[in-house]
Amino acid sequence: MKVLALFSLIAPLASAVVIPDTDKVITYDGYRVVRIATHGRGQAIEKRLKTLNAVQYNFDTQERIEIAIAPEDLRKFEKMKLEYEVLDEDLGASIVAEGGFSPGSAGRKTISSLNELTPAAFPDLTWFNAYQTFEKHQQWLVDIQSGFPENSELIEVGRSYEGRPINGIHLWGKGGKDSKPAVLWHGTVHAREWISAMVVEYLTYNLITGYSLNDTQVHSILDNYDFYILPVVNPDGFVYTQKTNRLWRKSRQVRSSSCIGTDINRNWPFKWDTPGGSSKNACDETYRGEAAGDTPENTALTKHAETLVANKGIKLYIDWHSFSQLILLPYGYDCNRQVDNYERQMSLANGVASAIAGASSAKTRFKPGATCPSLYKAVGGSTDWMQDVGKAEISWCIELRPSGGGGNGFILPANQIKPSGEEMWQGMLHLLTTM
Ligand SMILES: [Zn+2]
Repeated sequence: MKVLALFSLIAPLASAVVIPDTDKVITYDGYRVVRIATHGRGQAIEKRLKTLNAVQYNFDTQERIEIAIAPEDLRKFEKMKLEYEVLDEDLGASIVAEGGFSPGSAGRKTISSLNELTPAAFPDLTWFNAYQTFEKHQQWLVDIQSGFPENSELIEVGRSYEGRPINGIHLWGKGGKDSKPAVLWHGTVHAREWISAMVVEYLTYNLITGYSLNDTQVHSILDNYDFYILPVVNPDGFVYTQKTNRLWRKSRQVRSSSCIGTDINRNWPFKWDTPGGSSKNACDETYRGEAAGDTPENTALTKHAETLVANKGIKLYIDWHSFSQLILLPYGYDCNRQVDNYERQMSLANGVASAIAGASSAKTRFKPGATCPSLYKAVGGSTDWMQDVGKAEISWCIELRPSGGGGNGFILPANQIKPSGEEMWQGMLHLLTTM
């Protein structure tokens, strides 16, 4: 009934504009991913690249632009005589090798609410051998919760534009439900960043199994904090990346006759209309929406966070993204403003980076820093909202593997899920026991 009511609400919106035909499956066969050296002329080069059929990976174009170029435009690109290196000869082949893309209709389909799914077996580590469908992620939440019934519950914080549930799990320790400051984790706000849901679930798995096996460190962590974990906060975009376009970033909200989707991470209602860190153009990858917080996904996430703020407050917020291997502190909207507890947040972030580097012989390097000076100006982002409105003590965006477009950017091979999860688990153990 709830779902029907939602559809009758969005139906007038959808019929007011012609829905663009973006359901044609894109395989990216023959697309070449390149890294162009910009030498400070990023904006001018970006403008020239806009004439190509291509998908840009990064928006911090001061030093480089990483971009996937369609085969029919490769000659045109060559003629631009730019300085570049090839990161991936054939993106389509990498997507096939990655193994999670199965073309079909992304549709406006809803899944049942989690309460309607029946628990199967408690998950094991084989889950992390491959990327998983949205439906399987929902079942995984039900399965893992069923093995930890006394200290967890399933949560649905709202519904997406197309009516899919934004689901997660709430964990607590000996103090009981909602008795401690919150640790809030969001995954997959950018649809193509698949590794983020998997890593968030790896951490969840370790928290639950660690507590169940009486690991003293994990016990003290769960006894000190209530965890609210949402692995996929942009379900429509995520389903679209699995069925139609692996490199889709935004939501799937219809805005105009030619463009779909809002960057939910430019839509948070804080300093939303600061110029320069988002786009007013509905066709752009960083489109901010028509008004602050005007996406159903953002409305749901804001409301949920507000309930945590009003209860015991937010101790730690992490928005999980990929890629670049960065630990990013606020602020994104102002490059000259520093968070009040900058020294403390930086010292914790450096500790996390060391713990990650020490996690394996690979010594993966994550670089901490404030968003705007480190990466680029980003306005209407979650971490700025959590810091200033949500009053979170620690508010980070973590950009997972790989470090650059080499290593396949968003298309991280599935055999890196477990190593990514494991190094981040070591990082989180450090953070959660010292913060
Ligand atoms: Zn992202």
